[in-house]
Amino acid sequence: MEAKVGEILRSTQKDDGYIRSMTADASQVLHELLGTRRWLRWRDWIEASARALFLASSTLSGLQTPGEEYCGLVQAAREGDETRVPSTWRRAAFVAMNCYGTLITEALIKRLEKSVQENEDLRLEARASLLKALRLAREMAGLLQGFNVAAFYVFGAYYSLAKRLSGIRYVSTRPPSSDFQSLPSAVESSRRLLGYVSIVNVALSAFYKVSAARVEAVEIDSVETAPDTSPSSSSSSSSSSSSVHCVLCLNSARNPSCTPCGHVFCWHCIHSSLNACPECPLCRAECQHSRVVPLMNL
Ligand SMILES: [Zn+2]
Ligand SMILES: [Zn+2]
Repeated sequence: MEAKVGEILRSTQKDDGYIRSMTADASQVLHELLGTRRWLRWRDWIEASARALFLASSTLSGLQTPGEEYCGLVQAAREGDETRVPSTWRRAAFVAMNCYGTLITEALIKRLEKSVQENEDLRLEARASLLKALRLAREMAGLLQGFNVAAFYVFGAYYSLAKRLSGIRYVSTRPPSSDFQSLPSAVESSRRLLGYVSIVNVALSAFYKVSAARVEAVEIDSVETAPDTSPSSSSSSSSSSSSVHCVLCLNSARNPSCTPCGHVFCWHCIHSSLNACPECPLCRAECQHSRVVPLMNL
């Protein structure tokens, strides 16, 4: 019979625990090997690859993941009129989307943004509108993930977007009377209510973002933009970037933050670095997370 929401959640949590510890180990080894700067540059891909390794040795090889085994779940997909074990191609598509989908989408949008910024043939207004559209696309991709989770709480079946796109769902091998299956109906209905509230929340966020983008587009049209519309001033306004250079990501520091020794990095970069090693990446002075200060009005 079809697996319940609680079973799928429990199985996913269990697997996430294993993946987290695998990722932490892989990250630590590669941090030592590559050095902080290169490790930070590739960190997201390293984490995605650790996850891919986990899924390749379980799902892709036709085995249950530890979480699925613990909860008595088996993957299934509709092939024609029957429900059966998903084909290798379907499983491979799931693993690729699950591990690299977000990263590839993000890299694609970044590349498009760069080519728009560097395209001298485009008029300034057109360039600004295209950049706005790409930013909106990035935000919508994030909202789609939220919408999928909300739909999962209401309808069950697909916890991750990759599972929904590849059509892989779960069948429970446990008898209906077992622990997991017999959740009180009050819990089920409050979970469903949470799902409906989340769907409304995501829909409102999407509406707000689209209308904000429209207002900005109208402003761009009416102002006819000032002569010095450099790429940095026309791109992201949601997070403050500055003229200070971050030596970790080699870009201008986003949300610039200062260590006690006086060195400035992106907020995200310095905290990621401190997770791996509690010292300043530049001068090696000891530094804790709590000592990093975000610089305002820079
Ligand atoms: Zn940085
Ligand atoms: Zn320092």
